[in-house]
Amino acid sequence: MNDISGHTIQTMMSMIENARHISIVTHMKPDGDAMGSSLGLYRFLLRNVKARIKIVLPSECPRNLAFMVQEGENSDILVHSSNDDPAFVALMESDLIFCLDFNSFHRTEGLQQALQESQAAKILIDHHLNPDRSMFDLVFSETEISSTSELLYYILVRTPYIDGEASRLGLACASAIYTGMTTDTNNFNNSTYPSTLAMASELIACGVDRDVIIEKVMHSYRENRMRLLGTLLKDNMVVIPEGGACIVLDKKTIQEYDIVEGDTEGFVNIPLDIANVRMSIFVKEEDGKARVSIRSKKGTSANRCATTYFHGGGHENASGGKIIFPDDITDISMAKDYILGIMESFLNE
Ligand code: 5GP
Ligand code: MN
Repeated sequence: MNDISGHTIQTMMSMIENARHISIVTHMKPDGDAMGSSLGLYRFLLRNVKARIKIVLPSECPRNLAFMVQEGENSDILVHSSNDDPAFVALMESDLIFCLDFNSFHRTEGLQQALQESQAAKILIDHHLNPDRSMFDLVFSETEISSTSELLYYILVRTPYIDGEASRLGLACASAIYTGMTTDTNNFNNSTYPSTLAMASELIACGVDRDVIIEKVMHSYRENRMRLLGTLLKDNMVVIPEGGACIVLDKKTIQEYDIVEGDTEGFVNIPLDIANVRMSIFVKEEDGKARVSIRSKKGTSANRCATTYFHGGGHENASGGKIIFPDDITDISMAKDYILGIMESFLNE
């Protein structure tokens, strides 16, 4: 973890101690790691410093992750909707902004302008490839790590407040960090390093209730998610001999099954259970575009596929992007052929 040193921790500490208004920002459509790292840092700061602390979200926390937010915290979580709303204003008034779990301002969509215009000092804590280092005053970037939550853990334990004693994080902070790691690794299925297991061990020793977290993250969906999954695997998934699999979820089906944000979490991973499938693409229709999730096995680059074909990026084996209507294709009915064409040529390279 090259960016974590006595010097960078000290620099961060003096930035924190000199700030009166601190904002924590994460990416659009926050996932478990985005929420976990944001809440973990929020709880750490609230416990240790006097500044006003706000979490600023470019879009709402999905329903399946609402359990992560504790009573009383909602008033400090601001969701952006327009350029004069409290979320935008909080960013503009901040003297320090932590940017968590994204590598470039554009991942915050509507908050990009506020981040560009704000005079605040900015600290990046992130685990994606190719961070936009020039936009930040201090960067903690590490790609060989499970999650932003894990990276945050190793930063926080180096601060004088914690000084290597993880129990000083407090249970609420520790649980948020553990949850973020759990979702980004799909419960230790991927991106799991020795440091990940060491952190997990320390946090469980501090009292983090792993069973409760697993229950809430993995076993608390509504029945409709399972019914939709059955239909998609049976009638929709296409597998090609080159080693690709593709599922396209259109708006009509989303409505039919009453699917909300978070309900399709993890669907993209499932086709990788097939022996010769090296890359899986899951597409979900939205207004004017479709969101693309890509997962790959070692040796096949989801990231290169996302950047080359889908205006996106992410990690080597877990990336995302979009298909824009009508620039890329006219509408969702053409998505499957479009993706199969891309996968064929990509996997034949
Ligand atoms: P997911 O498939 O879970 O939405 O995203 C997988 C990974 O790709 C995440 O780390 C996410 O940050 C990244 N990602 C998703 N969508 C985009 C995108 O539109 N642009 C970029 N650069 N990264 C994305
Ligand atoms: Mn992440």
